[in-house]
Amino acid sequence: MKQTPDLVKVQENMRAGQITGPGFLGNDERNLVDIISEDTLKVEELGLTNEIIACKLEMLMHQGEKGFGSPVNVDNTFIVIVEESRGYIPCPFRHGHLSKKVNINVRNLSTRKEIDYTPISIHLIREHGFYQGKGSIYRLDPVETAKLLELI
Ligand SMILES: [Zn+2]
Repeated sequence: MKQTPDLVKVQENMRAGQITGPGFLGNDERNLVDIISEDTLKVEELGLTNEIIACKLEMLMHQGEKGFGSPVNVDNTFIVIVEESRGYIPCPFRHGHLSKKVNINVRNLSTRKEIDYTPISIHLIREHGFYQGKGSIYRLDPVETAKLLELI
């Protein structure tokens, strides 16, 4: 697929040191449009949607918030730790959306695998189908994430 000039600007915003220190791209050299379309394909192959994945991430965040920084057991399946810091992050797609700075850690009790994400991760998945570039500290590979969340 072709990268539009607007997406070129968005991708610039995503680089390390622009909106956030680490940025959203890791060491991924692909065009943003290709990162998104490859992950879209993975999500479709799983029989899922971005909305389903985003909803589960959001539900776990809300459960975890009840712990105020302490671990919360969700359905004897996950341990969730939500740590809030001050401030907001603007969406790199530049449409005025702001997400709170919060780190969410989810550990699957049976597989012992864990992921970290933030409210902007949820927004980027839900609204833009963007799971972040390879090597980004907050990249959520759709297949690994769906397994960990027990969606497949
Ligand atoms: Zn956005």
